[in-house]
Amino acid sequence: MHRPGPFALNVRDIIRHPGEMREFELAAPAPEKWGEGLVSVAEGETIVIDTRLESVHEGILVSATVDTEYSGVCGRCLTDIAQPVEVEIQELFAYPGDETSDFEVQDDHVDLETLVRDAIVLSLPFQPVCQPDCPGLDPVTGERMTEVAGAEQREPLDNRWAALQEFTTDPDPDAQRVGAENTEES
Ligand SMILES: [Zn+2]
Repeated sequence: MHRPGPFALNVRDIIRHPGEMREFELAAPAPEKWGEGLVSVAEGETIVIDTRLESVHEGILVSATVDTEYSGVCGRCLTDIAQPVEVEIQELFAYPGDETSDFEVQDDHVDLETLVRDAIVLSLPFQPVCQPDCPGLDPVTGERMTEVAGAEQREPLDNRWAALQEFTTDPDPDAQRVGAENTEES
């Protein structure tokens, strides 16, 4: 016999009452590690599910926003990473005995665990990176490129200055133009 798990929601009061609607917010720990790639949702990580349950003729229509966090390593430099992940899901839990459905209303509840797990796992990046332009590992030394460059070629002050220049690459030409105009006027 199936026992309701931590992701089960009681729908007794809206079963067979088309048009009725309930909203729940649910938070439960992942019962096991979700995902087998470079990143995954760790066992015990909090899964927050903001859900709306609508009673329709065929069953219970579940719409939900799921928030959690995945962790693992960057696919290029192997640094530990952790990122929030959010997925939207919508699925019909059909009444038993009706048409074949992937999900069914069980007794007086709907169990969202499989639905939520599959949606989260599918949303995990196959090639996760610590940052979009991660330079990866030095093919010779095997160390992170960013750390090697910082240690050997730049003083810490230069590193910060370089980051600042990168940040202001776009506004810079305009700023110079304004400065030139000001000079002409004065
Ligand atoms: Zn990286």
